[in-house]
Amino acid sequence: MIKKCDHPGCTKAGTCRAPKTRDLKEYWWFCRDHAAEYNKNWNYYAGMTPEEIEEDWEKQTFGSPLKDKKQSEQDAKDYINFLNDFITGRSTFDKKPPKRTTLPGRVVSALKFFDLPITASWREISARYRLLAKKYHPDTARTNKEAAAKNFTSLTSAYETLQKYFGKK
Ligand SMILES: [Zn+2]
Repeated sequence: MIKKCDHPGCTKAGTCRAPKTRDLKEYWWFCRDHAAEYNKNWNYYAGMTPEEIEEDWEKQTFGSPLKDKKQSEQDAKDYINFLNDFITGRSTFDKKPPKRTTLPGRVVSALKFFDLPITASWREISARYRLLAKKYHPDTARTNKEAAAKNFTSLTSAYETLQKYFGKK
């Protein structure tokens, strides 16, 4: 038996399936015309709050929240290592290569875009990247989507520059 189109007042046969919810578990059945109209307007993020959109996007993009437990543990371990080096006569501490004082111009510009100092570590860079990517991504930008899209492009290229420089790519 063919259902009637789900569009209010339409008497044509509902032969086209259209997703009702994001999880694609429920569907409308529309006639061809109403299905086309619906699909044109259907928005994956419809009905979600900005926070929910952010959370969903973050999960899909990074697979985890910004700062996970493992990362915190690693931070703590790094700090203890640093203290140990410092306390035990600085022998290993002093052997570490001196901090870079000159960076290639493109790396400096990239760090500037990230609003980070030239002494920034890779961890700081990747954490900032996550924040900025969320801020500028066309799907999650809250205001001025056009400017955000432009920034997202600059962000991507700045990040690639830094990935190369830090040997992460
Ligand atoms: Zn219809």
